[in-house]
Amino acid sequence: MSFAEVVFPIPLKKVFSYQVPGALEGLLKPGMRCSVSFGRRHTVGMVSGLTAHSPAQFKDLKPIEELLDTEPSLTPDLLELGKWISDYYYCSLGEALFAMLPTGYRKNPKAFLGLTEAGESHPEKVEELLERIGALRGVNLKSLKAGKVPLTARTRELAEALKKESLGLLNLEGTPSGSKGKKPERERLYSRPPALHPQQAAALSAITEALALHAFQTFLLQGVTGSGKTEVYLRAIEKVIADGKQAIVLIPEIALTPQTVDRFTGRFGDKVAVLHSRLSIGERTYEWQRIAQGQAKVVVGARSALFAPTKDLGLIVVDEEHESSYKQEDAPRYHARDAAVKRAQLCKVPAILGSATPSLESVQNAKSGKYQLLSMRDRVNKKPLPLIKVVDLRDEWRVRGDDRPVLSIALTEAIRDTLEKKEQALLFLNRRGFNTVTLCMKCGEQVHCPSCSIPVTFHRGFKPTLLCHYCNWSGPIPEKCPVCKDGQIQQVGLGTERLEEEIKKQFPQAKVGRMDLDTTRRQGSHEDILDRFRRHEIDLLVGTQMIAKGHDFPGVTLVGIVGADTGLALPDFRASERVFQLLVQVSGRAGRAEKEGVIYLQTFNPDHVSILSAKHHDTKGFWEKELELRKDLDYPPFTKLGLLVYRDKAEHKAKEAADKAASILKKEAAKLNVEVVGPAPAGIFKLRGQYRFQIMLKCAKPQPIRQMLQILDSKFETPSGVMRVVDLDPQSML
Ligand code: ADP
Ligand code: ZN
Repeated sequence: MSFAEVVFPIPLKKVFSYQVPGALEGLLKPGMRCSVSFGRRHTVGMVSGLTAHSPAQFKDLKPIEELLDTEPSLTPDLLELGKWISDYYYCSLGEALFAMLPTGYRKNPKAFLGLTEAGESHPEKVEELLERIGALRGVNLKSLKAGKVPLTARTRELAEALKKESLGLLNLEGTPSGSKGKKPERERLYSRPPALHPQQAAALSAITEALALHAFQTFLLQGVTGSGKTEVYLRAIEKVIADGKQAIVLIPEIALTPQTVDRFTGRFGDKVAVLHSRLSIGERTYEWQRIAQGQAKVVVGARSALFAPTKDLGLIVVDEEHESSYKQEDAPRYHARDAAVKRAQLCKVPAILGSATPSLESVQNAKSGKYQLLSMRDRVNKKPLPLIKVVDLRDEWRVRGDDRPVLSIALTEAIRDTLEKKEQALLFLNRRGFNTVTLCMKCGEQVHCPSCSIPVTFHRGFKPTLLCHYCNWSGPIPEKCPVCKDGQIQQVGLGTERLEEEIKKQFPQAKVGRMDLDTTRRQGSHEDILDRFRRHEIDLLVGTQMIAKGHDFPGVTLVGIVGADTGLALPDFRASERVFQLLVQVSGRAGRAEKEGVIYLQTFNPDHVSILSAKHHDTKGFWEKELELRKDLDYPPFTKLGLLVYRDKAEHKAKEAADKAASILKKEAAKLNVEVVGPAPAGIFKLRGQYRFQIMLKCAKPQPIRQMLQILDSKFETPSGVMRVVDLDPQSML
């Protein structure tokens, strides 16, 4: 008799043992989902391992009730990766393993037999087939059509019998929740690859060598914007496919970069599986199976595409590796870039991390020799990088007195010039809404969200309203100040909505568009705006960081950075890095085709290192200065951080828990060489009605931080009701 180790998607760090009944003996493999009774419920578990001996302490183990997969949902390397994630990010194995499954596999308790397209269109043949096979009770055309026949050990016999006979009428692979495995629509344009320029060729040859060795190696491909990084990925993938293997390409936000996706489908057509959040469960299942069976050679997707169940992985690419959206902000709080490198290591394949502005973590890894740096310093079209002109808004405001303009004289002139030449401009401002500050003219207090310690933003939209950008609370503008109950409320500050209006006023002849969270809520609206801009149905596009992403707009010759300073003020040690990255990325949108580009960068901090380095395209200089600072302050990449947040609706409960935890941690700190900072109110002290206290753990290595957490867990149970969040390598310190 054998026994199965089963885990569940719960925070409890425990593996549960079950008996494997005779009928499932030999069928059950690690990585398969099963149905078991757990507590008082029947639920889905994941088999994480099998053992021959009964764990001694248990006499009467419950049996595995049903098997929900015919093949493991998670391949051996994914199981390994899940173990690494649970260990490194300090979450339960169940949380890690279930996070790897597509939602359909996670949420729906069972897989179901269903009809294929052929089965749909020939119901009479299905009925005939069922009759001939002698179907099990309850299985008929109607139940198959409704997708209500669970794929279990019981129906497996039927499935096996049907396999020989079904003639493509039935889907025997188990389609979750009754939805059909459905093929997503995709473009079928094949593009011919251009000849590589020398820097691309050099980068590719280093990668090709590693591919030939079938060994793990991480490359940091740092190429200026427009240097043709994507082409390097495409060529490397070509080699992987020629070798009969598969590649995974991670891109930060798939909806924002339809063009990038098109370049992969354009080159590799049907061999590409695109995994994005808008796929229906059926479509996702279809792609998942195509990947597992090795038909899909290239998997393109956001963060979770890292967990694609490839049969024979040959390469992992992480594009825009510096993007913070690679960090998952719910448990398991993994960083997809780092997990990608881990998976590459487990599979013994190369990984390419690409960016014009790599994270300092990756830069340091390249310096220390852990990653191999490949640089591409020039743009493909041989054009110089765009000229960046910094406009000091302090001077501008001084000269123009009370008339505090949104656009400086220089930027206004540049826009006029661009319009006259019938060219296009991007106007970047990283704040959405109309006014960003709502305050009392008498007491000076800002109006805050009722459930967050966040000032509200005024949106005009269809209906004027105040909005919290963190919890989405919305409410009317109060007539009197809610604090002093006396003063009048005034709105000031500049958001993209107001910027759009100002631009329309100043340039009534121009076609103006806006791209931010508010104009892109509808499905497909990102693509609409980007397409209209590319077709030149928009002259001036106003937008938030959404317009900074890897878009290739050949008609853009001017980028106006209307406001660059907001990010600098954030109480986060990565603030300078983020602003620098954003400035370089947004500047990189200009002058990508024949005509040269120019950037006007408006700022109150013209001497800030992020702004100066961006102005001089001095990426390496920025690394040096910023790394030195990080080293002095003991911040990543020179230390590892762990963030603990305690939160509760009652301030004192959150505080007490954090105090207690900190006092325990501090007792252990010296022994393990870990620094304990806090507890302190979190950067956003109140969020969605909960008060938050945080403790930061700092150490040269990650292991002692985990040891500290283990000690904490053995000595202190988080009081019921209080939420505790553990975040290793946190990306947001707020
Ligand atoms: P990056 O990702 O580094 O910003 P892209 O890969 O988007 O750069 O390349 C910029 C543009 O140059 C794209 O339109 C791409 O098709 C084109 N391109 C890339 N490599 C070449 C090449 N070797 N010859 C001609 N055009 C190229
Ligand atoms: Zn709020």
